Amino acid sequence: MAKSLLRKFKADMHIHSCLSPCGDWDMSPKRIIKKSREVGLDLIAICDHNTVENAGVVMREGEKQGVRVLPGMEVCSKEEVHILALFEDMAQALEMQSFVYANLSGENNPEVFGCQVVANENDEVLAENPRLLIGATRLGLHDIVEETHNLGGLSICCHVDRPAYGVINQLGFIPADLALDGVEVSRHIKLADAQRKISGIEKFSCITTSDAHFLDDIGKVWTVFQMAAPTLEEIRKSLLQQGGRRILV
Ligand SMILES: [Zn+2]
Ligand SMILES: [Zn+2]
Repeated sequence: MAKSLLRKFKADMHIHSCLSPCGDWDMSPKRIIKKSREVGLDLIAICDHNTVENAGVVMREGEKQGVRVLPGMEVCSKEEVHILALFEDMAQALEMQSFVYANLSGENNPEVFGCQVVANENDEVLAENPRLLIGATRLGLHDIVEETHNLGGLSICCHVDRPAYGVINQLGFIPADLALDGVEVSRHIKLADAQRKISGIEKFSCITTSDAHFLDDIGKVWTVFQMAAPTLEEIRKSLLQQGGRRILV
């Protein structure tokens, strides 16, 4: 494809919904999309903790309103490291969810951790998820990356600059044989500062995301992809800097 057909997509690839126990009640499908439009996002990913049960409804709302939504999940590994699994479609995402649910124990206590609301397209409560979604799975980081790749997804280590649930703080380093597609830097540090200060991330493509748990966090930071279309395959090429695709800082 000619380079002239590439365009810029403003993206936030890590947004929680009201299904995450720590996600605000206001993080409902319609409100997430409305806010995403207001801040000019072309592309978002819904990444709740260890689940994708709200991704489909946000995708459908996004389709109505012109915001492309990809399904994703923030998986917690047995090493207590958070890692994003991003997919193109719900079939892949639901397979990942089955894999994660089979390796996740415990029941949520809403009074301690918060409610886990599965929403419908009218922003109503469809159900509450009873699982301990905030918990760590029995899956090692390598297992998570492997399964994500088997299903056609992308693996990105979350908030590598943060003390809590970041790979570098938990393990001291990024394992050399971990086949990551990229790393994520949080909104608490400028990307250029992170790349200068955090040793071990220089060989990875970096994205910045809001990791929003509240509506007002959506759009506080973002990543601009120069690519042909808002698809997972184009994001993959941007991370690999193929065919003119790239991440613009
Ligand atoms: Zn996290
Ligand atoms: Zn998160």
